Amino acid sequence: MLLATGGVIVLFYQEMNPSQFKGKYEVVEDKRPSTHHRDCPSCTKSIEYWWTSGMSECYPHFYCGDCGEVIWREKDKIRTFTSHGEGELKHNIREILAELPTCRCGGHYTLEAGPRCPHCRFDFADKNRAFSDRAYDPHIILLQGSRLYIENKNR
Ligand SMILES: [Zn+2]
Ligand SMILES: [Zn+2]
Repeated sequence: MLLATGGVIVLFYQEMNPSQFKGKYEVVEDKRPSTHHRDCPSCTKSIEYWWTSGMSECYPHFYCGDCGEVIWREKDKIRTFTSHGEGELKHNIREILAELPTCRCGGHYTLEAGPRCPHCRFDFADKNRAFSDRAYDPHIILLQGSRLYIENKNR
């Protein structure tokens, strides 16, 4: 299904089970001209990317451990925001992870994975970050060739 909204083409996701996910997805091409470029530290090829501003506060978001595609659901933010202490936060993140749909590649979304280079699959995740820093990371990074799945609470 293709919908034109304000000149931006939005593709609604069909591969996932509709009962699991009621959002849409975006790709880097949708974000031009607000995209940037950087070289992959592994293969040195240029990668076009986009990231959410701090104002949007898109936490918690989860990258697929296999392909690096990313998912963010507004209802997860509300649940994370209202967590008291690290124990409750970890409990809530575990429950969210169990609820998330499987990635279209067959992989699973995790809090530890990062976006991946479209050329060499290099994982950009910072493995040294504290759990709560990762859970409250407001910036989603979307790389070329990847998808960002978004589900807002009113959808
Ligand atoms: Zn690379
Ligand atoms: Zn995947």
